[in-house]
Amino acid sequence: MTKNFRVFATCDIGPPLDVIRKRGYQLEVYSEPTAPPKSLILEKVRSGIDGLITTLRDQIDAEVFEAGKKTLKVVAQIAVGFDNINRADANRYKVPFTNTADVLTEATAEFAFFMIGSLARRLWTAEHLTRENKWGFWHPYLPFLGDEVTGKSIAIIGTGRIGLAMIKKCAGFDMNILCYDPAYQNHEYVKAIQENMDLRHSRGIQNEKTSIKYVSFEEALAQADFVSVHVPLLRKGESDTPTYHLFDQRTLRMMKPSAFLVNTSRGPVVDEQALARALKENWIAGAALDVYEKEPLPPDSPLRDPAIEDRCRLFPHFASQAKITRLSSDPNKGMAGRCVQGLIDVLEKNYGGDIKKMPYVVNKEAF
Ligand code: NAD
Repeated sequence: MTKNFRVFATCDIGPPLDVIRKRGYQLEVYSEPTAPPKSLILEKVRSGIDGLITTLRDQIDAEVFEAGKKTLKVVAQIAVGFDNINRADANRYKVPFTNTADVLTEATAEFAFFMIGSLARRLWTAEHLTRENKWGFWHPYLPFLGDEVTGKSIAIIGTGRIGLAMIKKCAGFDMNILCYDPAYQNHEYVKAIQENMDLRHSRGIQNEKTSIKYVSFEEALAQADFVSVHVPLLRKGESDTPTYHLFDQRTLRMMKPSAFLVNTSRGPVVDEQALARALKENWIAGAALDVYEKEPLPPDSPLRDPAIEDRCRLFPHFASQAKITRLSSDPNKGMAGRCVQGLIDVLEKNYGGDIKKMPYVVNKEAF
C-alpha cells in the first residue's frame, strides 16, 4: 500500500511526528505555537490532505468536513476530550476521528490531586508570605491555617477513566469518597477500593476507617469537603445529563461553605460568573481551576479579582502537561504517540480496515 499520505498537523506535537515522516508521509506542521486560523485549516483540507492532526483549540465541524469531502480520511486529535469536534458532523460525512484516552489518565488525576493540596494547604499564599518577607515568626495558628486532606470527604463527579484514577489517589490519602455518575458506575472498582481501605485500617496502615460509595449528585455536593470534576463537556442535546454549567449558582449553593471545588475537566462545566460570586460571598471556601470557559483566561475574568486571590488557584490547562504523557512515541504511554498511531491505523487500514475495531477511533457508530 502506498504510504504517500498527506497530513497537516495544526500543531507540532513533538518527536512522534517522525514516525510518520519515516513512513514516507508528506507532513506539514503549522509552525506557530498558537492555533492556526480556521481559514488555514480549511485551505489545507481543501487542498486534499488525507489526515488532519488537531488539538482542542481547533473547531472541527461541517465546514471542515465539507472542505475535505471525499479526500479527508481521518482527524487525529491529541486529547481525550473532543468537544471541539462536532461528532454529528463527522458522522454525517463518515470521517473517523481519534482521541488519546487512557495515556493521560494518571497524569490528569495526579494534577487534580495536587490542585487540591495547593488549595487546602494554601501553598500559593504560604510561598508568597515567605518570598515577600512577611514571615516574621513561627506561631501555632498565625497568620493562617490550612485544611488537612487526610480523613476528609471528596466527591468524585464522573467516575470514568480519570475519576477512577482520582479515587485511587484519594484513597491513598485516607479520604472518604462519594461517587456520582449518572451514566457509568463501576461497582467492582468501588468494592475493591473499599476492601483496600478496610485492609489498610485492619493492618494499622491508616488510623481511621474510611468508606467509598455511589450517591446522588445532591448528596455528593452536600457532604463533600472537596468536589473534583471529571466529566466530558456535553451541551444540551448531546446527552440526557448535559454537563454544560453543571456547576452554577444553584449547585454551587448546595456545597458546604467550607468546601473546595476542583475542575480539571472542561471550562464550560463551571459557570465562572457564578463561581466568582460564590467565592466572593463565601458560599464555598475555595476553588482550583485548570480549564476555563474561554482559554487562555481573559484579562478581565472575574476569577482574577484580587479579593478572592488567596482562595482561587488558577492553572493554564496543565493537567496532562507532563513529559512522558505528552511526548512519548509509545502509543501506550504518550498522547503524541497515541495520536500518531490513531492516524496510522485509519490511513493504513490496520485491523483489516475495520474502523469499528480500531481502538483509538471515537465515532465508531458511524461505520
Ligand atoms: P471518561 O469518558 O472516561 O469519563 C467521563 C465520565 O463522566 C463518564 O463515566 C460519564 O458517564 C460521566 N458523566 C457524563 N455526564 C455526567 C454528568 N452529568 N455528571 C456526572 N458524570 C457524568 O473521560 P475521562 O478520560 O475520564 O476524561 C474526562 C474529561 O476530562 C475529558 O472529557 C476531558 O474533557 C477532561 N480532561 C482534561 C484534561 C486537562 O488537561 N485538564 C486532561 C484530560 C482530560
